[in-house]
Parts: sequence; C-alpha cells; structure tokens
Amino acid sequence: MPCPMCNKDPVTKYRPFCSNRCADLDLGKWLTGAYVIPAADTDEEDSISSDFIPNESNLH
Ligand SMILES: [Zn+2]
Repeated sequence: MPCPMCNKDPVTKYRPFCSNRCADLDLGKWLTGAYVIPAADTDEEDSISSDFIPNESNLH
C-alpha cells in the first residue's frame, strides 16, 4: 500500500507513510480538525443526556 500522503513506496519505520514528514502531515490533519465532524458530535451528546434524565428520575 503506497504512502497515503504522496503515493510513494512506504518505509517500514514510518508505515504506512514514506517518511516522517508525511506522517507529520497526516497527524497535522487530525490536530487541525480536518477529520473532525463538528455538529454531529454535539447533537449526539444532547440526545444522550436527555435520554438519561427520565431514566434517572424513574430510579428515584
Ligand atoms: Zn509520502
């Protein structure tokens, strides 16, 4: 499988990347939020917490 950043042959040490630079570039994508799903996350938290409220009052 070629380096996902530049499609060169990968180096075992940096697999699946071809170099530390490409691995850093990919990590940078994560850190800058390129892969983050912004709205869906908070929506899910809202529905979870509103599910918990009636359950907890049933226990009391
Ligand atoms: Zn590369």
